[in-house]
Amino acid sequence: MDENKTELENKHIETIDFQLSRRMLLFTSASTALLFSSSVLAAEKKIVHSKHTTSVRTSSKKHTKDKAPAIIGRAKKPLPLIVLDPGHGGKDPGAIGYSGTYEKHISYATAVELSRQLTRTGRYKVKLTRDSDRFVPLDGRVDFAQKNKADLFISMHADALSNSSIKGASVYTLSNTASDAQSAALASTENQADRYGGPNVHVTSPAVQKILASLVKLETKRESITMAQNIVRSLGPRVGLLPNPRRHAAFVVLKSVNIPSILVEMGFMSNRSDEAALRRAGYRAVIASSIKGAVDRYFAIGGSVTHLTG
Ligand SMILES: [Zn+2]
Repeated sequence: MDENKTELENKHIETIDFQLSRRMLLFTSASTALLFSSSVLAAEKKIVHSKHTTSVRTSSKKHTKDKAPAIIGRAKKPLPLIVLDPGHGGKDPGAIGYSGTYEKHISYATAVELSRQLTRTGRYKVKLTRDSDRFVPLDGRVDFAQKNKADLFISMHADALSNSSIKGASVYTLSNTASDAQSAALASTENQADRYGGPNVHVTSPAVQKILASLVKLETKRESITMAQNIVRSLGPRVGLLPNPRRHAAFVVLKSVNIPSILVEMGFMSNRSDEAALRRAGYRAVIASSIKGAVDRYFAIGGSVTHLTG
């Protein structure tokens, strides 16, 4: 029902987005940045300067005749940065499981395992929003991803529901309206952790800021949905899923305007069998490897590397 509506909405967004290619988005962004950002102008000058420097260097004996000069502006593409966000921590235990397990420990242990698996491929850089059992406010998590210019943000949770019979994993993207009451309740619980301090788009004109933000938002939403679908596809055959596992709600931690962001509920602490499974390292490794597979597919089809903020 609502999920069908969501799929229709998604298709609609994809149709619009088909015409609004990333190239066009980048062009628009670059033009805007050139008009309004002195820092970009400075960067442009730097590239020109670098090219000049390079051409001077090519005349030196250090370069052989058939070796193309290195253009600094096109230096080796950096690895995509994935920010993993283990939910809760420190004074905030998150949900407390049927037999007393803290969600914060499950989310952290799984994030560390996922980080290990992703880093081992040599294809990604990975950072965690917290590297120990400490409290990080929600806006701090968003800011962390912004400051590090993340290409992808994955928040990891295992919350509780009032109905302890509900079990299985689910994946969430941001929406002002929740896909169902359960998702609304989850988002509301999560959001109580802290107040939101939003990301910045550094342009001077409010009109331009609005246009730019909506373009970037559209692209970010499309990519978040793609990533969420990938994860559901990967988790499905290996981990039990909720009915309609691709959901959306107003999670504060997903509110980055320019970074595709998703939240994975790996299961529910309120369910006895989910809790028991999540306590096992082997099960967490399966979840991590499923998410890793989804990340691989996401970047194989050209995941976002669009950064518009300073
Ligand atoms: Zn949580």
